[in-house]
Amino acid sequence: MKLAPVPITLTQCAKTFRGTRVLEPLDLSIGAGETLVLLGPSGCGKTTTLRIIAGLETPDASGQVRFGDDDVTRLPIERRQVGMVFQSYALFPNLTVRGNVGYGLKIARTDAAVARQRVDELLAMMRLEAHADKPIDQLSGGQRQRVALARALAMQPRVLLLDEPLTALDARLRDTLRSEMNALLRSLGVTTIYVTHDQAEAMELGDRIVVMSAGRIEQIGTPREIYFRPANRTVAQFVGTINRLAGHWRDGAFETTGGSIALPQRAALTQAPELFFRPEDAHLADPASAQLRGMVDAVSFLGERTRLTIGGAAPDALFVDVAGRVELARGTAVGISIAPEGLIALS
Ligand code: ATP
Repeated sequence: MKLAPVPITLTQCAKTFRGTRVLEPLDLSIGAGETLVLLGPSGCGKTTTLRIIAGLETPDASGQVRFGDDDVTRLPIERRQVGMVFQSYALFPNLTVRGNVGYGLKIARTDAAVARQRVDELLAMMRLEAHADKPIDQLSGGQRQRVALARALAMQPRVLLLDEPLTALDARLRDTLRSEMNALLRSLGVTTIYVTHDQAEAMELGDRIVVMSAGRIEQIGTPREIYFRPANRTVAQFVGTINRLAGHWRDGAFETTGGSIALPQRAALTQAPELFFRPEDAHLADPASAQLRGMVDAVSFLGERTRLTIGGAAPDALFVDVAGRVELARGTAVGISIAPEGLIALS
C-alpha cells in the first residue's frame, strides 16, 4: 500500500467553546511519516486538537493548520484526505466487513476493479480475509478495531488520526494490539496523530509524545526524553512513577529523613528544595553505607521485577524496583542508594 505522508503544522491553534477556552494557543509540527502521540488526562484537549487537525473543528481565528504547503484551516474533513479511527470505531452495523472497508471507495465512485483490489489488499494486511463477508456484530473487539483501521486506510489518506483506538478493549488484548499497531504504523510510514491517556501506549507507539494538561502542552519529546527528562512535575507524575525527596542542602549534600545524599556540584540540583527519581534508578544497599535508610512497607511482585515500598527514608514512601523476585518481610530495615544521574529537580 503506497501512502504519501505529509508534514503537519499547527500555528497558534486555540479553541473556545461558548466563551470557555479549552485549548490555549498551541504550535505543533509533525514530520512526514511521524507518529505523534497526544497524551494527557481526560479533558486536557487532546481530542479537540485531533479534531482541529481532522477538520471536524475550526480553531479560533488566529489559528492555522497546514498539511505540507496547503493551508487546510477552513477545509472540511472530506477534503483533507485524512483517515480516522474513533474509540467506538463507528462501523456501519448493517454492512459486512468488506462493505465497511470499501465504503469510502464506493462513495467516491472508484473503479470497481481498483476498489476490489484495494479492499483485498487491506483485508490481507489486517488478517481479515476469512471474515470478509461477515456482518460487524459477529466480530471480536480486536477484529472490529482492524476493520476500522482498514476502512481509514482505504482512501489512502495523507494523515491517519486515531482517537483512543484501543481503549474499548480488555487489558490483555490491548497489549497484543498495541504491538500490532506499532508494527503496522512503522510499515505504513503514514503521518499519524494518536490520542491516548495511556502512557504505555504513548511510550510504545510515539516517535514523539506531546504531554498535555488543562489545554496546554507541558512537554514535547521522544518517549525517552519525556520519561528520563520530564520538563516539570506534571509530566513526571503523569508518565511513570516518580519518587519525591524533600529536605535541605548542607555542604553539597541533600539531607532528608532517612539520610543524606552527597552529590557532585550540579547547578540545577543544588538550588532545588526537592529532588525526584524513578524507582529503577535506585537500588538496595547495605544500610550501614547506603545513602538513605528505611523500612520495607510492602513488596509487590510484578513479574520481571519487584517493587518495594519503603517508608521512613523520605517524607513520602519511596518506590524502589529490584530485578527479579525479592523475598523481604515487612518491617525489614533496608538501605537505598540512588544513581546520581537518576536524580532530577523539577519545577
Ligand atoms: P477525553 O480523553 O476525555 O476525550 P480530551 O483530552 O480529549 O479528553 P477534549 O475532548 O479535547 O479532551 O475536551 C477538552 C475540553 O473541552 C473538555 O473540558 C470538554 O468538556 C470541552 N469540550 C470539548 N468539546 C466541546 C464542545 N463541542 N462544546 C463544549 N465543550 C467542549
